[in-house]
Amino acid sequence: MSNMQLCSTGLLAFLVILPHFCWSQYAAPPGDQIWEVEGEIGLVTTMLQDKGLVDILDESRSRKIIRVGLKNSIDVKFILLQHKLTYKILVKDLASYLKEKDGKTIKTRSITCTDLSCPQPLSDAYMTLDQIEWYLKELNISHSSRVNVTSIGKSIEGRDIWLVHIRPLKCRVDGAVWIEAGIHAREWIAPAVILQLIPKLLEDCSRIGYLDIFIVPMANPDGYLYSWTTNRLWRKNRRINNNTSQVGCDGVDLNRNWDYKFGLFASSNPCSETFHGASGFSEPETKALSDAMIAVSRDYNLLMVMAFHSYGQFILHPWGWSTEEAPDTPMMISRATLWANATKKRYGTVYKVTSTTVGLYAASGATDDWAKAVLQVKYSYTVELRDEGTEGFVLSPNQIVPSSEEVWDGMKILLTAVGPGDYIYL
Ligand SMILES: [Zn+2]
Repeated sequence: MSNMQLCSTGLLAFLVILPHFCWSQYAAPPGDQIWEVEGEIGLVTTMLQDKGLVDILDESRSRKIIRVGLKNSIDVKFILLQHKLTYKILVKDLASYLKEKDGKTIKTRSITCTDLSCPQPLSDAYMTLDQIEWYLKELNISHSSRVNVTSIGKSIEGRDIWLVHIRPLKCRVDGAVWIEAGIHAREWIAPAVILQLIPKLLEDCSRIGYLDIFIVPMANPDGYLYSWTTNRLWRKNRRINNNTSQVGCDGVDLNRNWDYKFGLFASSNPCSETFHGASGFSEPETKALSDAMIAVSRDYNLLMVMAFHSYGQFILHPWGWSTEEAPDTPMMISRATLWANATKKRYGTVYKVTSTTVGLYAASGATDDWAKAVLQVKYSYTVELRDEGTEGFVLSPNQIVPSSEEVWDGMKILLTAVGPGDYIYL
């Protein structure tokens, strides 16, 4: 079904109450381009990003693929020239590129879903924010004996941040795990995969059933919505930053806003994609998440925290702020390796096990560092899902099913290994 058909069908039903709900999934600011910088880059692209002139799209150590807005392109060219660097244009008009990509995407949405409602996680399309919320509310009703869906707070634009608590199947309880997805708006595959895992977790009758599982499938609802309506590659939340009249200078990078080693390796420039915000936990989203995690940590034996992102295919362990070894690093590597080996089996997808600073780059104020340092959880991870850069953040929806299947293979092993079956893997 085409976008137009979807919109038309929806309009028939919702014309009166929601006349504006047809939106483009693949919008981009006019004139945005994607460049590949060539030569010895060093920290030049990081510096350009800190200045708010580019958006680094390269989720690898090389950091050479950048998004450049029309208004900054002359400045960026000049600075690259100063550093004797050249570049080639990979995408001349991002808006057209995304539109064309969307046109090639086969859309076969379930007939039981509209853009506003959906009773189950979609496996062949990314879900709208409304669909996600609809599903979570359905889940709360249909599985009321084991599932509690509650709001842990509001986003800066007043949207609920939902927490799904799956209670243990068994009488004996061994501990709890916390799973976060969607803190970076454009990384659509992360919430999509986590939503796919919820029914699998509910159906599983193995040792996973001894755990309390807490899941935030959508940590940044405002940003996610904005990535659907206005800018597919939006990353931050939707705080309107004062003292900046420039386009693109709004938002805080929520994964640089956690109050541990705040501001060390993140930008103080509101125009930067990695702007850390005014202070640690200045943003209602990170405040809500951390308060809820503190409560879980107080009331349960919190064994593990996992934050799902894309892309690059990594399972990262702390620290992000230092190359020093975090406590429990050998155990974190051991369990991450179990996850990566199990994940690889089905389709051969390789996930690299490394620390954030060693494998990627220094970044402070992230969920995993805070959980490790402040909550002192034994196992703390950031997972970067598919792919390795072919499609990057705009991963095709046909990747939802294989990504979810392989991640589930890994989670079955990992949830057993960090919980009741810990002794088996010593
Ligand atoms: Zn991310």
